[in-house]
Amino acid sequence: MSELPLPIWIGVAAVLGLLVGSFLNVVILRLPARMEAAWRREAHDVLGLELEPAELPPGIVREPSHCPRCKHPLAAYDNIPLLGWLLLKGRCRYCREPISIQYPLVELLSGVCSAVIVWRFGTGWAAAAGLVFTWTLIALSGIDFRTQLLPDQLVYPLLWLGLLLSLKPLFVLPSAAILAAVIGYLSLWSVYWVFKLLTGKEGMGHGDFKLLAALGAWMGLSCLLPVVLLSSLIGALLGGTMMALKRHERDVPMPFGPFIAAAGWVWLVAGDQLLGAYLHLTGLH
Ligand SMILES: [Zn+2]
Repeated sequence: MSELPLPIWIGVAAVLGLLVGSFLNVVILRLPARMEAAWRREAHDVLGLELEPAELPPGIVREPSHCPRCKHPLAAYDNIPLLGWLLLKGRCRYCREPISIQYPLVELLSGVCSAVIVWRFGTGWAAAAGLVFTWTLIALSGIDFRTQLLPDQLVYPLLWLGLLLSLKPLFVLPSAAILAAVIGYLSLWSVYWVFKLLTGKEGMGHGDFKLLAALGAWMGLSCLLPVVLLSSLIGALLGGTMMALKRHERDVPMPFGPFIAAAGWVWLVAGDQLLGAYLHLTGLH
């Protein structure tokens, strides 16, 4: 397998990333709808109400792709990642409505990040794990951007997988993974409560604590502070830009999960180099 030169594997990873990216688009759109339907069912159960015969939530895999506006089923060639959107010039073939830029963006992001993972980790287990890490973080970020939710259905498996991989160990030792998961959760949890007691507002969601715990399980204690600092920096830069462009109101909550995810991904790929550069710049090394 590994007789093939690395650039070929990087290309394979890019194509695989594009294909998985189209699936991630489906997850980003349909998982929150399914969660909402489940909550509605539970709420009706608790209140003892009859459930009105509502439409069933969309299946994640079974349902064929269709235009979200005119519901026309899409042809296979319209579903080709990135190319489909480019060839259609961003409009539905049937109703000419603009197709959300989310589709090509997620596919492109997934393709590029998957290629970077194989470039960084080669073709072994670390690369395979890194790809799962990447794809889960992209799905989580997309859902958080759209709905301000970080679904447990994705965050917990990421956390458990990180702990399991430490048994091999792949990235960090089990002791480091367990400690970092607990401390990652508790650190943001304390910030949340201090902020809430002082201002009466909720600065972040519980999903953010769980996501940091998951990143800790993958990368150990040394990632926690850099990830929090890096995500705050990315968040401040992006939030500032959006406010300057008047695209975002000051009081509308900004999802923080995508920034934690981005910082975590950067740290997995280049944490050692960033830390080295930092120590070098500050004369500590
Ligand atoms: Zn359409």
